[in-house]
Parts: sequence; C-alpha cells; structure tokens
Amino acid sequence: MIFIVNQQPHHPFLFGRHGRGSVIIILMPFTIAVDIGGTHIRAASYLPETTSATSHCRVRSFANEPGVYDRLVQAIESIWPKDKVNAIGIASPGPLDPHAGSILATPNIPEWRNFPVGPNLSRHFGLPVYLDNDANMAGLAEWQYGAGKGHHDLVYITISTGIGGGVISNDHLLQGFHGMAAELGHMIIDPDGPPCGCGHNGHVESFSSGPAIARYVNEQIRIGRQSSLQADPMLSGQQVADAALRGDALAIAAFERAGYYLGIALANYLAIFDPSILIFGGGVSQVGDLLFKPFESSLREHTFHPHYLDDLVIAKAALGDDAGLLGALALARMRSQE
Ligand SMILES: [Zn+2]
Repeated sequence: MIFIVNQQPHHPFLFGRHGRGSVIIILMPFTIAVDIGGTHIRAASYLPETTSATSHCRVRSFANEPGVYDRLVQAIESIWPKDKVNAIGIASPGPLDPHAGSILATPNIPEWRNFPVGPNLSRHFGLPVYLDNDANMAGLAEWQYGAGKGHHDLVYITISTGIGGGVISNDHLLQGFHGMAAELGHMIIDPDGPPCGCGHNGHVESFSSGPAIARYVNEQIRIGRQSSLQADPMLSGQQVADAALRGDALAIAAFERAGYYLGIALANYLAIFDPSILIFGGGVSQVGDLLFKPFESSLREHTFHPHYLDDLVIAKAALGDDAGLLGALALARMRSQE
C-alpha cells in the first residue's frame, strides 16, 4: 500500500512510505498539450488529473511564413518541465492523418503539405506524439472535461468561419479508417447548393457558416431585397447578427435559412450517430435564438423518428478557446494509457 503524504498539485513527485521505513518516490509525469492555429501556437504542460496548466505559452504562428515547425518546437521547449514527460498531444487544423501524425494540407499553414509533424516532434523530444484535428479535439475535450461529461454518445459542432465536428460514439473518439471521420461541415445538404470553402457544392458549411450567412445577405441585396445593410464583400456574420437583432428582416431571414439547413444536417447526424447530447461551439452559435429557433423546428421536421429527440440534450460548449488544447491533453492521456 502506498500512502500519499505530499500531493501538491504543482509538485511532480509523490512521496510514499512503503513497508518499514522504506520511502518510494513516484514520479508523476507531465503531459504536454499543443494547439496549432492559423494565428497562434499554444503549448502547455499538465500534471495528471488536472486541467490547469503548470506552464503555458502562446506565440504568433506566422503561419504564412517559413519556419512554423521551428516556432512550434521553440514553443514546446519554452514550457518544458524539469521532470518527466510521458507524451505530447497536438490539435491542428486539418485535413490530417492522425494515424500517421501527418498534416495532409492545411490552408492556414501553406508550407505544411504531407508534413509529418508528429513523427518529427517524436524524434526531437524522444516521446510519443498524438495528433488530431482541432474540431475532433474540441469534441473530445467537451466530452472529457466540459459540457459532455458523463455522456457516452456525443456530437460536437463548431460553427464559425467554417463548420467542423467531432463525434464520441460509445465512449470512443470516432476517427475512421483514414482518420478523416466526423467532417461534419462537409455533409452534402444540396448538391446544387452554393460553393463550400472546400471547393464542393452544397455542404452545410456553405449554408450555415458565418461567411455563408453574409454571402446570402449580399446576394439578396444585389437582387434588390431591402435591408439596413449594404452589399459589402467584407460583411461578417456578426454584422448580420447585429442587424437581425435590430429587426432587419433580411438579416433575420439569413439566420432562419442557416438554421433550417443546419437542422437538416443535424437530422442526418442523429440518424447516423444517435447521440444523447449535441454540443455547439464557435462564434456563430453564440447568436442564440436567431439561429437555434429555426434550427430546432427544422430538426423536428427532418428527423426520421421522433424518438431520437427524447432526452436529447442540446448544449453550448463549455471550454471556449481552451477546447483544442484540452482535447490534445485528453488525447495524449488516453493514448498513452492504451
Ligand atoms: Zn465542404
């Protein structure tokens, strides 16, 4: 039996007394989590069973300029603890291959094409490195530490400049054969619909993301519809939301349309994943009833069986900007225990 006599949250050692006067020292390994974004790289170190970082750094990624990998290594080294580290987890924009630890291509970081960031870091630091895309990691974090705690089947959607998703099915993160499962933003809602950021047409992202909402308003103004807004290529989803809250009929209609198509997408996800909770993150989901009232009625209308809706929880994400980092932490902890 080990009696823990010193378990300070920021102390890497547990001292235990074992048997007659013999003292054993248990080294508590740190886990490193990294969130790579288009504008910033964040890195943090954590002791077991805590989600408050013992050290943390946030640096500009200068993602369009060469040397992103070197800046990433420096960021990790800057928070490296004095004591043992067991694994590194990384949340990165995709598409990527989590099984190989490679970024396939990401518009945010042009110099990374088929870039083996996981194996490179693993060689550099001499540790296992686990990688997955930022939306999957946010979903994993919400399940482990946030709004989805205690659920076994969870669908997480983030709606901002794009739409991303993460799925927990039967207490497992859904990754898929190629590691590309749960690309929920690219669900086809109407093959003749507007162009999506990915180049295909009619994905839910092309109807319900912030830019899609703004684009619809611009199109309607150009064909003569009245609005307090002016046609403007720089128009943002937030400006449309502000106009809707002031009572602008076109802006309200734009959110009704976005919510309607979002409801169709979610009806599809219910039929595939049958979750007990839907969690919404991202800036556009902060608008509340403007989007969620039409979303809910569309979800009811399009759900194949009403039983999917019994006891279904619809929740806001709880972890905000930390979701990617905490998901990377959860991934590294999970995988290093397997
Ligand atoms: Zn798409």
